[in-house]
Amino acid sequence: MAVTETQERAVLASVPTALRFNGSGRGARGTFEVVDPATGEVLTEVADAGSTDGLDALASASDAAADWAATPPQARAEVLAVADRLVRERIDDLALLMTLEMGKPIEQSAAEVNYSAGFLRWFAGEAVRIEGRYGVPPDGASRRIVHRRPVGPCLFVTPWNFPMAMGARKVAPAIAAGCTMVVKPASQTPLSMLALAAILSEAGLPDGVCNVVPTSAAGEVVGALLADGRLRKLSFTGSTETGSKLLAQAAEGVLRVSMELGGNAPFLVFGDADLDAAVQGAVIAKTRNIGEACTAANRFLVSDRVVESFTERLATRLGAMRVGRGTEDGVEIGPLIDEVALDKVSGLVDQATAAGATAVAGGHRVGERGNFYAATVLADVPAGAGVLTTEIFGPVAPVVSFAEDDEAVGLANDTPLGLVAYAYTRDLARALRLTESLEVGMLGINRGMVSDPSAPFGGVKRSGIGREGGREGIDEYLETMYVSVGGI
Ligand code: NAP
Repeated sequence: MAVTETQERAVLASVPTALRFNGSGRGARGTFEVVDPATGEVLTEVADAGSTDGLDALASASDAAADWAATPPQARAEVLAVADRLVRERIDDLALLMTLEMGKPIEQSAAEVNYSAGFLRWFAGEAVRIEGRYGVPPDGASRRIVHRRPVGPCLFVTPWNFPMAMGARKVAPAIAAGCTMVVKPASQTPLSMLALAAILSEAGLPDGVCNVVPTSAAGEVVGALLADGRLRKLSFTGSTETGSKLLAQAAEGVLRVSMELGGNAPFLVFGDADLDAAVQGAVIAKTRNIGEACTAANRFLVSDRVVESFTERLATRLGAMRVGRGTEDGVEIGPLIDEVALDKVSGLVDQATAAGATAVAGGHRVGERGNFYAATVLADVPAGAGVLTTEIFGPVAPVVSFAEDDEAVGLANDTPLGLVAYAYTRDLARALRLTESLEVGMLGINRGMVSDPSAPFGGVKRSGIGREGGREGIDEYLETMYVSVGGI
């Protein structure tokens, strides 16, 4: 059912727009606007943190650190379990809020809220499973204890494309591990994170453990935090360009780092693939989140045995997708986040078609207002085209054909990025060979989506450092301490 204006107003009125500071709201030097990418209209204004606010938030995280680290694991787990329940109970409102600030279709926002709750639930389980070990060294002269301790106050910097999940996947393991934190959400989408932080407080998270500082001055606020000796860790999700800048700043303080950066995912379709499944997977891997996902399939590498049929079927599916405001019924492709993104996507398509590619579906913007671009399939894309080498971040599927497996793997690995790949084949031996030859942190075999709170998400090469989710996710927030006991 379509969303009414009254519902929109009610959801916006319910979201806390102050800095989330020491468990409650706090004003700032001013405010900045949050805009609906579908209409360009201002939704609301949120408090705009300066570097002093950021440092005050860190002071609050630092003051709360010892008590939170000493809180029994079961109590930390309980907060996450209650927050998981509250998020799921409020899924409709949270999904609407997310669609308003980010633009994606409301069903996809609900899926993201559910995915976010999945991290709260998963790490509620992990909180009580932090283990060390005891041993006798080879010479038998002492005893060895290895135990795990929380890293300490963390800084989280998150992007706009998944406004809640990218925060939840850091906040949940940090809470489970006993860390405190300052979160700087993306300035285009601060509302979902503010709503999540308020829910965590309601679930019993003590004051000071999770502080949120939206700001229109990311460089200034994050720079001041990274230079402060109380900070122990940076976890960043965003572009490789910003990530490498922040890595350099974090190196000054020798901080622990986790980096979830950009992707350029290849989607491989081999000659023996189940084409129905491959097309279905391609639709998901390309159009989920309007193509604005680090995991979005960026290049379709298709065997020359099936390329014609695959391209035609994908074009039929994408060509029929409804583009519009994410709150409207039946919309599958929402607006791009802003005009810069729209210009980038349309520029990449125009360059590719000028260089000889053919738009067999879409290839144009939609409407005069809002940042809408049609779901697009490009055939015969020439090697080296920008649409193949750049992270598109839009609903555009360039298709390239290959003859042999080695050629496909060579094309897939021909990028400095290595987040995820997808491969469709019915040949088990080929699939296993791909697990050893593709330079990626994640691989979907006969699946167009890999995200799962119970699995380690992350990339290799310039796609990042570290893993979020799974059993590995909590390791990012734990230090290993070794104790040698003598006199036995
Ligand atoms: P971005 O421009 O790098 O921004 C990400 C975050 O960094 C935002 O909070 C931003 O604040 C902040 N930021 C920007 N410049 C900064 C600076 N100089 N100092 C400190 N902070 C700074 O990335 P984005 O456009 O929001 O997100 C899209 C990118 O994220 C894509 O490349 C995508 O692949 C990647 N991503 C990766 C993953 C993953 O798990 N690997 C997941 C999702 C997205 P403002 O909002 O105020 O600019």
